[in-house]
Amino acid sequence: MNRRDFIKTIGLACAGLPVSAHRSACGGLAGTGSTSERRRPNFVVIFCDDLGYGDLACFGHPTIRTPNLDRMAGEGQRWTSFYAGASVCTPSRAALLTGRLPVRSGMCSNVRRVLFPDSAGGLPQSEVTIARALKPQSYTTACIGKWHLGHLPQYLPTSHGFDSYFGIPYSNDMDRVGGEGRQAFWAPKIEYWNVPLMRDEEIVERPADQNTITKRYAEEAVRFIEQKREEPFFLYLAHNLPHVPLFCSDEFRGTSLRGLYGDVVEEIDAGVGRILETLKKHHLAENTLVVFTSDNGPWLTFNEHGGSAGLLREGKGCTYEGGMREPTIFWWPGRIQPGVVRDMGATMDLYTTILKLAGAEVPSDRVVDGLDLTPALFGTGPSPRRTMFYYRGTELFAVRKGPYKAHFITQSGYGSDKPVRHDPPVLYHLEHDPSEKYDVAKDHPDVIADIVKEVEKHRATLTPAEDQLAKRIQKEG
Ligand code: MG
Repeated sequence: MNRRDFIKTIGLACAGLPVSAHRSACGGLAGTGSTSERRRPNFVVIFCDDLGYGDLACFGHPTIRTPNLDRMAGEGQRWTSFYAGASVCTPSRAALLTGRLPVRSGMCSNVRRVLFPDSAGGLPQSEVTIARALKPQSYTTACIGKWHLGHLPQYLPTSHGFDSYFGIPYSNDMDRVGGEGRQAFWAPKIEYWNVPLMRDEEIVERPADQNTITKRYAEEAVRFIEQKREEPFFLYLAHNLPHVPLFCSDEFRGTSLRGLYGDVVEEIDAGVGRILETLKKHHLAENTLVVFTSDNGPWLTFNEHGGSAGLLREGKGCTYEGGMREPTIFWWPGRIQPGVVRDMGATMDLYTTILKLAGAEVPSDRVVDGLDLTPALFGTGPSPRRTMFYYRGTELFAVRKGPYKAHFITQSGYGSDKPVRHDPPVLYHLEHDPSEKYDVAKDHPDVIADIVKEVEKHRATLTPAEDQLAKRIQKEG
């Protein structure tokens, strides 16, 4: 991308000025600076569960109100081609926290798609999470919310570099003990799902009161920021919602035009507002990068209780755009260039970006898939991400390079259909055709040949990893 296109892409307020002039004209916003010259920045990553690309007002939803996220996007950057590392929970979370495709850590599987309460596996100790990588830089680290990278002690957040943990360690629809089939989801009751709420390694409530969980996570986040504001911190706030079953507090129930799903998203939005207010109140906003995104697309088989991928095709569980492209916002007043970024980015890039900004070491003894997004954030250049690999389990289903995406295998997220292999692959131009409707493979054999070369290069970097999701706890007797 040339400089003119870049300026157009991010919609700079001072468009037309050279980047160096822009830096001074806009009050020295650009540039990474040196972490030794200033206090190390704080990081807050807010990660939703199953929120769709089209579920925020600032991403086009007509009836869900998200005034806090809309303001965050206005003051920061809204990314329109930002990807999760997988289309379901466990592998997606592993990708974000390790900066690596889950196929490298064993956190994806063709046997079971995610971890369950009877799983014996989890994120291996050999993986270096963002939290652990930040510890040598004296960061205080907290994980609040859904973990889903192993609930046994050796896999919990406190075994992976987090100083503290408060949350439900896996999905809110697990430990099912009551209710009739799907009917239970349409009228959910707390007692149907006997999920534990944990503080560090202890269960403090069971079943967790999910009606108040979103509110309590936000309160816990605010408390953490207030208590730790004198030291550099990393807060990973992973909401359990809007994954089904849907719950919200009394204050929000019945208030959204979108129904219960809207109530839930609007409560998450309110929590974001409280967190940003807290950062502003304590004069931390100018030294804190806040990122909001989601782990995978909407769970469409849950009808109105699932979200919307907007104009993107399909949803959770599959490698069409609706499964992995996420509504993403970056916020850091005074540092990042406000605007819309149409370049590609991925949750794995948060790993490398955060570590670089903190002056921490990115592990050099392994393949790290994350890239440093600071050029795009600070307005000094485009995002370095040019390719995206879409996996289902351990199989590579699709690859995006630039505007083109080749599907080698397709399958619906949760249907009974078998995977369909395509040779030549189905090819879509995602900028012209974000809904993946029109196959242009026959017009672009050169593009396909180029993507096939990328696949070969990529495969050469893979080494086998033990499947962590297939292992189950052995029952006695
Ligand atoms: Mg999810």
